[in-house]
Amino acid sequence: MGFTHIFAGNPLDRADRHRRDPAWLEAAARADNARYLPLWQLNVLVDHQDERGSRLGWLSHQDLSRLEVKVPPIFLGLHDDTPHFALDISSVHDPEHELNLGDELEFEESRAAAMHLPLADTGIVAQARAQAGWHRSHRFCSVCGQPTEQEKGGHLRRCPSCGAEHFPRTDPVAIMLVEDGDHCLLGQSHGPLVRFGMYSALAGFIDQGESIEEAVLREIREEAGIEAESVRYHSSQPWPFPSSLMVGCHATAVTRDIVMDEEEMHDVRWFHRAEILQALDEEHPTLRLPGPMAIAHHLIRDWAERT
Ligand SMILES: [Zn+2]
Repeated sequence: MGFTHIFAGNPLDRADRHRRDPAWLEAAARADNARYLPLWQLNVLVDHQDERGSRLGWLSHQDLSRLEVKVPPIFLGLHDDTPHFALDISSVHDPEHELNLGDELEFEESRAAAMHLPLADTGIVAQARAQAGWHRSHRFCSVCGQPTEQEKGGHLRRCPSCGAEHFPRTDPVAIMLVEDGDHCLLGQSHGPLVRFGMYSALAGFIDQGESIEEAVLREIREEAGIEAESVRYHSSQPWPFPSSLMVGCHATAVTRDIVMDEEEMHDVRWFHRAEILQALDEEHPTLRLPGPMAIAHHLIRDWAERT
């Protein structure tokens, strides 16, 4: 396997054979060794107890039995034959109090938690958060409008009224670093990036009926007015806010003059490799680049350090 980003590298065996077995799922969910990751308003439970650092806060079926939860658990997978589930407990008013959690356990926003959790745990966060978020926003059938029901441990919602099957969605986003010799093209979209003085790789959702390569070239053309070629795949990163898959690529520019999309972008510029290397070491006086949590950082660093 290639590069492992934050939110990738999930160690669980997703065990599709068990997803299809309702009796097995039911028994596993009540087993003494079952581990539950509770999510509350899409925040994950984090355990700060371990002196080596924080990790995900897993609870037992028994721990959760005192709560009034209205949704079934989501089967995440197996690890050493131990079943792992996620449970959306958002219907509980004050979970830290009702679960009688100690000082070490607290609910934390998923992105903030991922910055200090072990890499393998961030992969589980991505799966659990994306799944819980999908169930929250797909309670009704998009064909007939009636309520849907969870099946296959959370990997399917079926409409009892019209029979339609709805599967968890993943939205692919192309993110690309455009290079031209010793220069690369970075942009600043309107919003928080402007406030932080941060520039990043250009990016956009892949359209329906469009290849990754076509999406990369289209986004570069639309956002920067630059024509490019030779799209090369780099790596990908799950980004569960709410359910994206970032597809990272490099591309080579064939034109140089920028014609920016002013509605979407605040600024688009060519940066010299020397400036980029300085900014990656946080020694540039003004230029800020995304941190290692983001795939953009690795697209930029791998280009800048290439000799
Ligand atoms: Zn329906």
